[in-house]
Amino acid sequence: MLRLPASGGRYTFSACSFCDKLIRMEPLENRIERASALLKGSDRAAAFTGAGISTESGISDFRSPGGVWDRYRVVTYQEFLARREDRVEYWKMKKELFREMQGARPNRAHAALAELERTGKLTCLITQNIDGLHQDAGNSPEKVIELHGTNRRAVCLSCAHEWPIEDIQKRLEAGVEEPLCEHCNGYIKPATVSFGQSMPEDEMRRAFECAVRCDLMFMVGSSLQVEPAASIPSTAHRSGASLIFINRTETPWDHIADVIFREDAGEVLHRLTTGLL
Ligand SMILES: [Zn+2]
Repeated sequence: MLRLPASGGRYTFSACSFCDKLIRMEPLENRIERASALLKGSDRAAAFTGAGISTESGISDFRSPGGVWDRYRVVTYQEFLARREDRVEYWKMKKELFREMQGARPNRAHAALAELERTGKLTCLITQNIDGLHQDAGNSPEKVIELHGTNRRAVCLSCAHEWPIEDIQKRLEAGVEEPLCEHCNGYIKPATVSFGQSMPEDEMRRAFECAVRCDLMFMVGSSLQVEPAASIPSTAHRSGASLIFINRTETPWDHIADVIFREDAGEVLHRLTTGLL
């Protein structure tokens, strides 16, 4: 049984539940100071974001109970291809998810990462999210690497024709249960990576290149539980980058982070980026 040092004084400690190493949590001001120094010394920063960055924008994390994902059965890619009733089930869930996403606006954490790009520090932004909020906040589309694709577009699985998602949502709202391609009658699917579908090779390659090249990586709002995405911060670490983790809960990789924040991502990132001005 691991004994924790007395929490008297200015520090609190917690043991990493994955590796038992001690994680030292300094007072917030000290951590802001250390993270600011890392950011000031960086000229090739990167960010890696997960669902946690968008929850404040009203988009449910698919792991959170009561969210859209909780109310529908997960339809795998193979099931989607195989059976009409699975496609209908899939589109029911998407219809609800689109309504949720339509009202979503970038929050302060998205805004701060867009600001970081404007300062010239941010070289790439890897995201597990499919909501497009980084681009809405002002990050350049060419710098955003969407590992799980995007919900902003739909694509025909047969002829690759693409539609803005609003066009498909209109059909669903009009009562269409399973939208089909008007050119080839193929199945239409949002341009996301579904369960059972392989990760996009190009995006994965770019994400790992970004991790190898950066000198500082912000990890925001991911519990780093899903591979291979979870290996991105550790790849950055092995290549010599500093790591700043901003996440409400612990992750299996906390022991390699230089600074950890459990506080609100918008607040922390806002303070770090305004400190640059
Ligand atoms: Zn088609």
